[in-house]
Amino acid sequence: MKFSQQVLQWFDQHGRKDLPWQQEITPYRVWISEIMLQQTQVKTVIPYYQRFMQSFPDIKSLAETPLDDVLHHWSGLGYYNRAKNLHKTAQIIQQQFQGEFPHTVESLSQLPGIGRSTAGAIAAIAMQQHAAILDGNVKRVLARCFAIEGWPGRAATLKQLWQVAEEHTPQKRTADYTQAMMDLGAMVCTRSKPDCPNCPLQARCLAFKQQRIAELPGKKPKKSLPIKQTRWLVLQHQDEILLYKRPPTGIWPSLYGLPEFVDEQDLRAFMLKQSALTTQATTMLDEFRHTFSHYHLDIHASHIALEQKPLSVMEDEQILWYNMRQPQDVGLAAPLKRIINKLIIG
Ligand code: SF4
Repeated sequence: MKFSQQVLQWFDQHGRKDLPWQQEITPYRVWISEIMLQQTQVKTVIPYYQRFMQSFPDIKSLAETPLDDVLHHWSGLGYYNRAKNLHKTAQIIQQQFQGEFPHTVESLSQLPGIGRSTAGAIAAIAMQQHAAILDGNVKRVLARCFAIEGWPGRAATLKQLWQVAEEHTPQKRTADYTQAMMDLGAMVCTRSKPDCPNCPLQARCLAFKQQRIAELPGKKPKKSLPIKQTRWLVLQHQDEILLYKRPPTGIWPSLYGLPEFVDEQDLRAFMLKQSALTTQATTMLDEFRHTFSHYHLDIHASHIALEQKPLSVMEDEQILWYNMRQPQDVGLAAPLKRIINKLIIG
């Protein structure tokens, strides 16, 4: 039996058919799910997806809403560039394509945030086209089944994986096959404990035959991450804390965060400039590490309980007095939630 037939047969019996984005299939709904599912598990995505669809049921509503609102709906999902790109792409489709998704993998993958695999998934699932996908789950299944060596981030390995993915994508039932491969990777050929006895591909799987499952796919070459330091300052007045809107580029783009300083001296200089703060006592609130893909950030957060809001910072348009008990609809930098929880719990 052909590879794709084995996969489809398994899908008919065991595949997932009731996920929210598998209902009322449209390119828009598939696109949003694909972007949310990048680096995030299905069970985490479902509630976010449902809330998102309720607020932005179509491309027009997403294109017309302010970015802050989109970021608010994304708060907690991480990798915020995904949300910024969603918003940008919705506006491009609305303005340049009259609200209709372009119809080829090539033109879909020109849009911000849509790579070749996401474009393939939209074309296969929502447009009934013959297109291959290669997300993290599919890479793992193929690398193991065909014993493809090397880290999938390497260009040569990736090329080989795409070749195999394209070769095995069937002309018929492409949408089901696409979903089946994603499910197989997520439910059977999992990263650390693949369920080989229940895998439809076991008889042909080279990693299984050669007992090399743990080695495949190849690991990313290790490099130790550099460590950066930052000082955050919590200025709290009753239930409110002072936040600044972060710049549109860099980490946590356009989200709200605490006043940030490169070091202790920088923080002291800020406090000296704000006459209302010079006499205030600072306490250490929290110290923790947040890890990005390319560095660790050690965050040292100090706290000042204010009797009055300092007038000196009030004129800045980028500030927001954020009410921790009745939060405004804005996107927050991820580690800020930890600090807010700490302040609320006391
Ligand atoms: Fe993955 Fe095991 Fe199936 Fe091979 S046999 S594809 S390792 S689950």
